Amino acid sequence: MIAVNESKCPNCGGKLVGYDTVYRTLITKNRKKYRILLLRRRCKGCNKIHTEYTEDMIPYKRYEAEMIYGVLDGFITPFVIGFEDYPCEKTMERWLSQKEQLLLWRNPK
Ligand SMILES: [Zn+2]
Repeated sequence: MIAVNESKCPNCGGKLVGYDTVYRTLITKNRKKYRILLLRRRCKGCNKIHTEYTEDMIPYKRYEAEMIYGVLDGFITPFVIGFEDYPCEKTMERWLSQKEQLLLWRNPK
């Protein structure tokens, strides 16, 4: 996956051109789901297709980024109202164990 407006292929450094769009489903508070539209780009060098990730998501995670960062920042815990049962404690623990890696995806603001 690549950042929005990335122009170079992370694989070979080739030029990326617009390819198509795909829908991804993200899970948010209270297990609500919503779809976001992502742009895919194709590399002119190696033909690999790369999907752009937006600030709403973290690549390869099904939960929205805001919720994951909330857990990593300590704002969301199983003791916070609205998050007692979901995401489950095991999921939160898994994110915390991957904290350094997950924070790399955070867009600078
Ligand atoms: Zn390439």
